[in-house]
Amino acid sequence: MAVNTTRGSLRERGIRLTRQRQILLDLIDKTRDHLDAEQLYKLAKVRDSKINRVTVYRTIKMLKETGLVDELDLMHYSGDQHYYETRLKQEHAHVICLRCGRVEEFFGDPLQKLRRQIESHLGFQILLARTEVGGYCSHCQALRAQEIQAATKAAESGRAAPVKEPPRRR
Ligand SMILES: [Zn+2]
Ligand SMILES: [Zn+2]
Repeated sequence: MAVNTTRGSLRERGIRLTRQRQILLDLIDKTRDHLDAEQLYKLAKVRDSKINRVTVYRTIKMLKETGLVDELDLMHYSGDQHYYETRLKQEHAHVICLRCGRVEEFFGDPLQKLRRQIESHLGFQILLARTEVGGYCSHCQALRAQEIQAATKAAESGRAAPVKEPPRRR
């Protein structure tokens, strides 16, 4: 469904949907994850062994420029990498765990409400909005609490934080 809509948008813009472009759009549309260019290249390669890296990168750039695909940096959790998703999805915020890198999507009225508020307060016409939230997921909060507790205990008993020495070779 989404791919068909995308195909229509491409046709309107006079862009031919080649087999390789279709493979990429399809991958970006259907994945539940946010994939980077290298991951997309690897998945595309499985579908079409003749596809090459240059084509994949060029196609992603084209899809981005035509506004069909959105480029995300997800709080730069893993450096300068960028991730892709189609614009056809309903607007959502990305919630990124800065410890384990898990990405959640938050959908809902508050985002639309924020948009309307910004528009009316600033007299601004919003064309696109990207919302990213960074923090700790519930799993990582528990792990961090344990770590802090262990560190506090170690400090209280007069020991320095345990430093593991590499095993000595004989
Ligand atoms: Zn986490
Ligand atoms: Zn997303």
